[in-house]
Amino acid sequence: MSKKYLQELEPGYTPLTVCEEASRCLLCLDAPCSKDCPAGTDPGRFIRAVRFRNFKGAAEVVRENNVLGSICARVCPTERYCQKGCARSGIDVPIDIGRIQRFITDFEETNGMKILKKGKPNGKRVAIIGSGPAALQAAASLARLGYEINLYEKEAKAGGYLRYGIPEYRLPTHIVDKEIEYVTELGVKIHLNTTVGKDISLDKLKSDNDAVIVAVGASYGKMLPKFENNPHVEIAVDFLKRVKDSKGQVDLPDNILVIGGGDVAMDVNVTLKLLGVKNISDVVYEEFCEFRASKKELRDAQALGVSIIDGYVPVDVDGKTVTFKHRTIPGEVKITADKIILAVGQYPNVCGLEGIRIVNGESDIKGYVTTDPKVFVAGDIAHLDKTVVAAVRTGKDVASLIHSRIGGR
Ligand SMILES: Cc1cc2nc3c(=O)[nH]c(=O)nc-3n(C[C@H](O)[C@H](O)[C@H](O)COP(=O)(O)OP(=O)(O)OC[C@H]3O[C@@H](n4cnc5c(N)ncnc54)[C@H](O)[C@@H]3O)c2cc1C
Ligand code: SF4
Repeated sequence: MSKKYLQELEPGYTPLTVCEEASRCLLCLDAPCSKDCPAGTDPGRFIRAVRFRNFKGAAEVVRENNVLGSICARVCPTERYCQKGCARSGIDVPIDIGRIQRFITDFEETNGMKILKKGKPNGKRVAIIGSGPAALQAAASLARLGYEINLYEKEAKAGGYLRYGIPEYRLPTHIVDKEIEYVTELGVKIHLNTTVGKDISLDKLKSDNDAVIVAVGASYGKMLPKFENNPHVEIAVDFLKRVKDSKGQVDLPDNILVIGGGDVAMDVNVTLKLLGVKNISDVVYEEFCEFRASKKELRDAQALGVSIIDGYVPVDVDGKTVTFKHRTIPGEVKITADKIILAVGQYPNVCGLEGIRIVNGESDIKGYVTTDPKVFVAGDIAHLDKTVVAAVRTGKDVASLIHSRIGGR
């Protein structure tokens, strides 16, 4: 069953079908799609290049603007960003920008293109804590400007939620490896199994570097007090990491209860189905009209047969049995399952980095600077959306902010 989990769910374009899709583009001046990409990947320009069969030029546009172009092509909620204002929506359906970008970055890899170049050393050093999308983009942007960059990652492999969170059927590990390789080819060093605050202190990083970027993400899953110490309960992000690490080789019972209604819960639901679990009930606090999960992820979970029960709150837990009450309708529902997975949010743990206070002042640097002039923040702990493309944007922003502050020789 793990075979289904290991295959990409969405098929990619061929050279013929990508040109067909690009030929629907209206080649808008001042393209709304380009304005709406938080990372500035510039879809208007790369789609124009594809339209004129210039795949190489298209790859250069994507890669120059976004070092995680291939990852964003697969996981970006495009309906919220570039596709939202696509002018083609007025005629039929928006251009499938994510899939065009995926074709382009696959073309780049297949043809062994090397687009990014390391900058001439400028004598400045920056340390980055974490190796998720914000850290990787900040590292690449600064390395291209000539900075010496060291990344510190607590896990055994780099990538943050790209590697350990987003499931294989949506984001294959070899794509994550490839894009990390593009970053290390710029001379960026990644120190794995190194927890800042435990194995090395923030003070040491500050004294050895001209600036430090904290990009630790929200890498811990939340627990609800009623479920603590229950042996049948697992946290969603821990479960997804276990499945991804083992390439889908996990033992699972036939009846599983999932609690939560965001994208992470939908990833758990689809993963369980692809691994062959027969009965999955997902109980969600929000009602359908308030759902936080993307429409596409919700549709995928429902199409695979997950029962989604909306508007209920867990009020009591007795081993494998959870009692829920509806938020407005009187009465109770009891669900008994062999395993319970909690997908109720993630939080950052800046243990050992407690001195850091994010400053939310001046508008252009809001959320990137801290009370310590040498320490900056990026990614999920900064102020933008909690998505990969927003993390990329914060990585670019913080890199240019540091460059403007400490410059180079
Ligand atoms: C299951 C799941 C599915 C998702 N799906 C999508 C999606 O489809 N599309 C989308 O756009 N977004 C998605 N997201 C959100 C997205 O992954 C995050 O917004 C993004 O990864 C945040 O990037 P980041 O760089 O801030 O941190 P992270 O990716 O969280 O990386 C932070 C890194 O810092 C490391 N770290 C933490 N503390 C320390 C320390 N003290 N010392 C050293 N290292 C440390 C962590 O180990 C981790 O590797 C998903 C998230 C999850 C959990
Ligand atoms: S908004 Fe849509 S139609 Fe216009 S350039 Fe972008 S992809 Fe093409």
